[in-house]
Amino acid sequence: MSQKLLKLIHKENISASSDIYSFKKSDGSPFEFVGGQYIILNVGIDEDGKVIKRAYSILSSDSKTDSFQICVKRLGTGKASSILPELILGSELEYSGPWGKFVGDPTWPSPGFSLILATDTGVTSLAGLLLSKKFSDRLDSTIAVWLKTKGEDFLSESELAKILSGISNFPNIFQIPPISNQNRISNALEILKSILGDCTVPENVFLSGDGNVLREVRSELVRLGTLESRIGMEAFFNTQRNTSPAISLG
Ligand SMILES: Cc1cc2nc3c(=O)[nH]c(=O)nc-3n(C[C@H](O)[C@H](O)[C@H](O)COP(=O)(O)OP(=O)(O)OC[C@H]3O[C@@H](n4cnc5c(N)ncnc54)[C@H](O)[C@@H]3O)c2cc1C
Repeated sequence: MSQKLLKLIHKENISASSDIYSFKKSDGSPFEFVGGQYIILNVGIDEDGKVIKRAYSILSSDSKTDSFQICVKRLGTGKASSILPELILGSELEYSGPWGKFVGDPTWPSPGFSLILATDTGVTSLAGLLLSKKFSDRLDSTIAVWLKTKGEDFLSESELAKILSGISNFPNIFQIPPISNQNRISNALEILKSILGDCTVPENVFLSGDGNVLREVRSELVRLGTLESRIGMEAFFNTQRNTSPAISLG
């Protein structure tokens, strides 16, 4: 099979810890995807000779297929996130995708109320979904929520407003404790409770970001009555279940 390549056509450092990259297909053909999907970039080879492949959600709208954007957090010690900022324009990277069967399913979302909830860097797939063709006539019945840590500069509110300009539905933004804080999950569940207080139980849900938080949010939603099959989830980090006990809203 021939190699699939993307060419870096623009990059912008938007904060001390993040960059937006624009790519197009090297062969010039359109990059077709469904908003909320992700690609896997082959970023290079590490010191042990292992290929560094990482997933990145597509931030830009699926109405635009000549190029697309991703936003990557600089993690300091992270392998891919240290290599990407050094890429020069015109560089080519091998990739696979787009991936993401759940959002790609034409039967999702079903009619009814939708909740799109992201923590931390998960806001990229939240933006991709809000900008997607499939949500364009669904925004009135969709609530978007971004849970972020105080001082997190991955994507500023003004940068997010720029990305989401033209759509009516701006995410509700709440602060939650830092990633390692023991109150993070309970805090996120309290926020979920306050949001859902006045609305019906969501028919459709998409969750992205911190797996430790998302697994508990998903359990809570199932307990409240959302069908598990209608809940999509992408853990960007903390992908494995940890051993701490589950917390319920009571
Ligand atoms: C479906 C999917 C979509 C993703 N989309 C994005 C995206 O849009 N933007 C983005 O920046 N990343 C995204 N990620 C995370 C990305 O794939 C990499 O894990 C991340 O860039 C770190 O790679 P690295 O090689 O720099 O760090 P590594 O050398 O792999 O190690 C870094 C460590 O940091 C953890 N980590 C990863 N992300 C975070 C974070 N946000 N906060 C704290 N710790 C973290 C990793 O789990 C790992 O333990 C996504 C992951 C998945 C599975």
